[in-house]
Amino acid sequence: MLLSEVGYARPASVDEAVRLLAGNDGARPLAGGQTIVNVMKARAASPDVLVDLADLDDLRSIARTGDGGLELGAMATYSQVITSADVKDARPIIADVAAQIADVQVRNRGTVGGNICSNDPTNHLPPVMVAAGATKTIVGSDGEREVSADEFFLGVYMTAVGPGELLTKITLPPTGGAGDGFAAITIGADGTCIVNAAATVSGGEARVALGCVSATPVLLTVAAEDEAVREAVGGAAIDPPSDVHGSAEYRRHLAAVVAARAVADAKEGS
Ligand SMILES: Cc1cc2nc3c(=O)[nH]c(=O)nc-3n(C[C@H](O)[C@H](O)[C@H](O)COP(=O)(O)OP(=O)(O)OC[C@H]3O[C@@H](n4cnc5c(N)ncnc54)[C@H](O)[C@@H]3O)c2cc1C
Repeated sequence: MLLSEVGYARPASVDEAVRLLAGNDGARPLAGGQTIVNVMKARAASPDVLVDLADLDDLRSIARTGDGGLELGAMATYSQVITSADVKDARPIIADVAAQIADVQVRNRGTVGGNICSNDPTNHLPPVMVAAGATKTIVGSDGEREVSADEFFLGVYMTAVGPGELLTKITLPPTGGAGDGFAAITIGADGTCIVNAAATVSGGEARVALGCVSATPVLLTVAAEDEAVREAVGGAAIDPPSDVHGSAEYRRHLAAVVAARAVADAKEGS
C-alpha cells in the first residue's frame, strides 16, 4: 500500500529537531523507518510531518563512559552496534541481541532508539535495557531529563518520550562483574519473538526482564537459580496474549523456560 501524503523535515541539529516536533502536534521523529513507515503504510498512524533524524550525527555515536559504562546514541543502527569494539568490551549482550533482529536490511537501517521508542512488546531490545538498568536521556523544549530503565516503558507503543520530545541516548552502567544473558523463542530463525527474556546476574541475584507477555517488559528480581527463576515467573502477574502462534498458557510456560535460559546465559558471562 502506498503512503498517504506526509510532510518531511530534515533538521541539522537536535535543537532544530525538538523545535520542529514541539511546533506541530502531528510531527513524529523518523529514525530507521523500519516500523513507522510500515505502520503508516498500514494506515495505523498518519503523522502530518516526519522529522528525519538522519543528519544528527551526534545521535549516532557509541562511546564508553568514564566509569566503564556504555553510551549508545539513539540513532546508532543495529549494524553499528554489532561491529562496535566499545559495545563488545562494555556490554556485548547488546551486540549479540542486535544480531538476532530480523535480517541484514533491517539491521542496517533500524536504530536502538527506534527499537525502544516503538516499544512493540515483541521487540528484542526493551527487555535487555530493563534487565541491564539502562538510563534514557530525553530532550524537549524544557531541556534534558533522565529516565530510569524501569520507568521508560509505559504501554504498548508508549514510552516516557512525550510529544515534542526526542530520545537522544541510552546509558548502560558498568557491569561491575555482572553477566548479561538473553533467550527467545521466535517465529522461524530470524522472526519476531513469541516470548523473550533478558537477565543480568550479579552476586547470586538476577534481574530478569520478560518480553512479549505484557504491554511492557516485566521485571523480576530473584535468586539466580533455575528453580527459583521458574517459580518466580510462574507466580508473576503476567498477561500473555493468545494468538495463532501460541496460547496464553503456552506463552506462560515459555516465559519460565526462556527466563531460566537467560539466567544460565548470564551466569556463564559473569
Ligand atoms: C521485516 C521486519 C522484521 C522485524 N523484526 C524485528 C524483530 O524481530 N525484533 C525487533 O526488535 N524488531 C524487529 N523489527 C523492527 C525493527 O527493529 C525496527 O527497526 C525498530 O522497531 C524501529 O527502529 P527504527 O530505527 O526503524 O525506528 P522508526 O521506525 O523510524 O521509528 C519507530 C518509532 O519510534 C519513534 N522514534 C524513533 N527514534 C526516536 C527518537 N530518537 N526519539 C523519539 N522517538 C523516536 C518514531 O517516531 C516511531 O514512532 C522488524 C522490522 C521489519 C521491517
